[in-house]
Order: sequence, then C-alpha cells, then structure tokens
Amino acid sequence: MVKKQFQTESKKLLDMMVHSIYTNKEIFLRELISNASDAIDKLYFRSLTDDSITLTHDDYEIRITPDKEAGTLTISDNGCGMTEEELESNLGTIAKSGSFDFKNDPEKGDQEQIDIIGQFGVGFYSAFMVADDITVETRAYGADQGYRWESSGADCYTIEPCEKESAGTVITLHLKDDTEEEKYSDYLDTYRLRSLVKKYSDYIRYPIKMMVEHQKLKEGSKDEYETVTEDETLNSMVPLWKKNPSEVGEVEYAMFYREKFGDYEEPLQVIRQKAEGTSNYVALLFIPSHPPMDYYSREYEKGLQLYSSGVLIMDKCKDLIPDHFSFVKGIVDSSDLSLNISREMLQQDHQLKIIAKALEKKIAGELSKMLRSDREKYERFFQSFGSQLKWGVYSDYGMHKDLLEDLLLFHSSHENKYVTLEEYTSRMKEDQKKIYYASGDTLEKIALLPQVESVISHGYEVLYLTEDVDEFALQMMGTYDDKEFSNVCTDKLDLGSEEEKEALKTENENAKDLFTFMKESIGPALHDVRFSNTLQNHAACLSSEGALSVNMEKVLNQMPGMDMPVKAELVLEINKDHPIAEKLKTLFETDKDKLAKFSKLLYANARLVSGMPLDNPAEVSDLVCDLMLEEA
Ligand code: ADP
Repeated sequence: MVKKQFQTESKKLLDMMVHSIYTNKEIFLRELISNASDAIDKLYFRSLTDDSITLTHDDYEIRITPDKEAGTLTISDNGCGMTEEELESNLGTIAKSGSFDFKNDPEKGDQEQIDIIGQFGVGFYSAFMVADDITVETRAYGADQGYRWESSGADCYTIEPCEKESAGTVITLHLKDDTEEEKYSDYLDTYRLRSLVKKYSDYIRYPIKMMVEHQKLKEGSKDEYETVTEDETLNSMVPLWKKNPSEVGEVEYAMFYREKFGDYEEPLQVIRQKAEGTSNYVALLFIPSHPPMDYYSREYEKGLQLYSSGVLIMDKCKDLIPDHFSFVKGIVDSSDLSLNISREMLQQDHQLKIIAKALEKKIAGELSKMLRSDREKYERFFQSFGSQLKWGVYSDYGMHKDLLEDLLLFHSSHENKYVTLEEYTSRMKEDQKKIYYASGDTLEKIALLPQVESVISHGYEVLYLTEDVDEFALQMMGTYDDKEFSNVCTDKLDLGSEEEKEALKTENENAKDLFTFMKESIGPALHDVRFSNTLQNHAACLSSEGALSVNMEKVLNQMPGMDMPVKAELVLEINKDHPIAEKLKTLFETDKDKLAKFSKLLYANARLVSGMPLDNPAEVSDLVCDLMLEEA
C-alpha cells in the first residue's frame, strides 16, 4: 500500500478544515449528500442513453448509517462510483479548478463571510471538520474492482483495492472525540441527522434513508410499546420549485441557489415563473450578485438546468437562455418534454423555443421592474452584467436592441451617476437634435476632451463611454427614440448658428493651401486638417471622419487576431479663434520650415489629448528640444 502526499495547496486547505476555520461544521453532511446525489445523477443520466444500465429512477438511494459504538457515520450511495484514477484525482487534489487565493486570512477574518467550501468546491474535505479519519470505498459502475481511499487528515492518504459488491460509494467518517465546544457525537443522533437532512437536503431528488428506532404499540396490545427499527426516508424530495412559492422563504431560495450553483454569495434576484396552457413549466431563475470567476472568458458556459417532471434531463441547456442573459442561472421543469429526448432533438423542440422566448421576456421584465423600483440594486446588477447587455445590443445585427435599450446605463456629464437613455432624452434641450457621447479610457479623461467641454458649454449633456463595447452598441442602435447618436469627436458635430457655420466654411476655404501643406508635413497618418469653432480655449484636437472613431480604432486593434490594423480617418481640428491659428497663417507666408515642425507638434499634442499614443515619440521630443533652444 502506497502512502501519497496531498499537494501542497491541498495540505494547507486541509489543515484549515481540520482546525475548523468554518464555524458551521454541520454543513459537512449537506456536502456529502450532494456529492452522493450528483453521483447518482451522473449514472441516471447515463442510463437514459445506455440501455445496459438497468437501474430505474426508483432504485437509487442515499443511506445514512450512524454507529454509536464505533463512533462512525457512514454515507453511502449507489451512484456512478469512482475508478482508481478518479479517486486519485478527485480526492487527492483539492480545489484544482478554483484559484487558491484567500483574500482574507480565514483565521482572522469574518468567518461567516468566507465560505471556502462554496467558493472552492471542496465539499468532500469539509468532512475533516468533524472526522479524524475518513474511508471512501467505491466502485465505478461497470468496473469489477473496488478501491478504498483512506486519510486521517493533512498528511497523506492511501488507495488500495478492496472488495465492494456493487457500484457506488460508501464514505465512513470516524468522528472526532467530543470537546467542550463541540459535541461531535451529536452527529450520530438520528434526531439530529434527520433535522440536518430536512434543513439542507430536503429537495434532493433521491431518497435519503436511515434506519430509525420507533416506539410502536405491540401487536394485539393497547398499552404495551416495543422498540422497532424501521427504514425512514428523511427528505421530502419535493423540489423547491414545485413547492408553493408562499411556503418558500428567501433564505431557502438563497440556500438552494448557493448549493446548486456553487456560489458563495446569495443571489441578487430570484425570478419565478409558472406557465400553464399551451406550454407547461415552472422556472426558478437567479441573477447572481457577482459575475462568476470565468464569466467574461471563453470558458464560461451559459445554460439552465432542464428537468422533465422533476427529473434532470440536461445540466446546461443553452437554448433556454439567450446570450445577453447568459448570467442567469436556474432551472426549468416542464411536463411537456419527453424524458428520453436527446440533445439533438431538444434543439429542434418547439416547446423549448416557446419556453425560451417566454423566459427572455420575463427576465427583461424583471430587470426593468428592478430598474424602476430599486435603482441602487439595479446599478449593482449593471456593474456586474451591464457589459453583457451592451454586447447583446450589438450582437446579432442589433436584433435585440428593442428589448435591451431601456436596460442600459451610462455615465454622463449631467451628474456623477448612471443615467438611462430615457433619462437623457427627457432632459434634452429644445434645440438639441442628437444624443451626444464621447469615449475614452476613464471618465476623467473624457470630461477633459476639448470637444466634450464645448458640447457641454452649449448646455447639452454628453454620455461618457468607457467600455470597449459601448460605442459599438450605440452605433448598432443608430438612434434612440428617433434621436441620432453623435460622437462629439467626429466631424459631424455642427454646433453654432447658421451664420457661424457659414463663416467657418469660408475660413476653411481660404486656408486650403495652408492645410495641404500641414497635412503633407504631418504625413499619411492624418486624413485632413481644418479649422473649428467648437474648441473653447483649446488650440487643437483630433476628430475622425467616417464610421470608425478613434476609440473604436483602439478597441479593434487590441482584439486578438487583428493582423491588419484598422485606421480611423483622423482630422486635425484647429481652433480658429486661438492665437495659434494666426501663427500658422503667418508662418505659411514667412517660414515653411518652422510651420512643418509646428504642424507635427500640434498633431502630436492633439493625439495625446485624445488618449492616443504618439507614432514617433523620439521625433516629437527632438522637436520640443529644438523649440526650447530657440527660445533661449
Ligand atoms: P465538488 O463536489 O465541488 O466537485 P468535492 O471535493 O466535494 O468537490 O468532490 C470532489 C469530486 O469527487 C467530485 O467532483 C466527484 O467527482 C467526486 N466524488 C465525491 N463524492 C463522490 C461520490 N459519492 N461518488 C462519486 N464521486 C464522488
């Protein structure tokens, strides 16, 4: 028999478990029962497509056996079991998927808040909080040989072959000795065990059984009692979603969510929907209060659990939930679906499509309700998942924009808080035709853009876009409430009276040659040069022409796989009322060399103001030095 060491990280965690970092030790039972139920689910699931598995739904059970004399508690199941390799990899490495980063020192921190078990998926090891020795005897379904895993804590474990009659897993905990603070032997008390099962595992779909002693009237007698031992099913097995909502408290929903979806925090919102008629189903959905670790990565898989009359038929049914609501977790239980339906058939299933449509509407409705009735909560939601809604507006050629546009929030120049598009348009000035926006890395930087200052000075509000997706979403929308979106950093910005615009046009025509010369000095990166009357006190800024803005250029070029960089058509705008304008005009007559240098510097400055990198920093630096020396 070989003794194996746990991996270092595992050791650390085990150590913490043993030294009871988690105040709520009783949850170990919930964890072991859930594992047993998962193992049965796996086998049951396989049996739907594998005719050689002859077990039916009623054959499965989880059994709890306390043995007071031996001081052991046994939890067994007839689920899928584990092979030797699985034993090794599942129980030899802890938290292999989760990142092992304890933000707070659990020994010191707020213990209630740190749910290590939920956070890292280390349920099995929680048993070390109550046991000083654990034996796992298991046999994988279809295998001939069983294996025994044993460990008494932090140091090491052993695995060896063992006799096991049938497939499944038997976990035996040798409980710790009672101490003053903790009476571990309580976990051998049938009354306590029954109430723990009721509390945590009532809706487990397989019977959790235990032999329980009862006092029973002796047969034929009216007052004589005898003690009989009978098998009792401890859980009601009625799934939470089948219970009458008025009977289910928030705490119960939250507990269900945390356990089922492995979140360490409570859900932000519970959504329940029951449909009867053309479509029959119950949906119990949850909006998490924070994005899962992998949410904004490719690894994240959306989907709802799909049940057919209380029996799980698919763990992550993607077709039930659209991408823009991919953060929603939950279950759908429908009596219209056949148990033996295959994945391929499900995709075609008409019922499923009807349900998915109805759920989408329901979720959008609930979010909209939250936005109106509890703004603070909605903003918390939006901080977590707002980007996803914006991607939703952009994706599928804008197909979902009507559904989503009123759920979007943006920062704006109005106040330092989120605004909806409806709020923006309701405040628009009478003469304001467009919805103005500007994008940049941070709110502070955007607020400092010359064009933004200018639009604000006309009394208009500007939306501040800081996320990559923002501008793409707005462009896809095109308009909101028939009002066009307008990037203040594009040449479309035409503020001022008709006369002012006319005057500007003339000035620009008169300076044509100057601009051509400047453009040539600066080089091909620049599309055009022109005067502007919207720059307040600033000398120059960059804007863009055409559909691609400066910021979109930045975003697109950062995308992986962009080998051919895209280029926005940049326009150098010069404040026609700034002394610099006069200076340029004079230099064009007197000193073209200097004008060439100044043009480059002006362009470099404008790039910096727009938050763009310089094409050639060394050259710019030399130019500045030349200028300084001249002054001296
Ligand atoms: P989690 O359940 O969160 O994955 P655990 O530490 O509780 O983490 O369990 C680790 C793994 O061990 C499980 O994912 C499962 O593959 C396996 N396992 C645990 N208990 C059983 C069981 N009763 N039957 C079969 N496999 C089990």
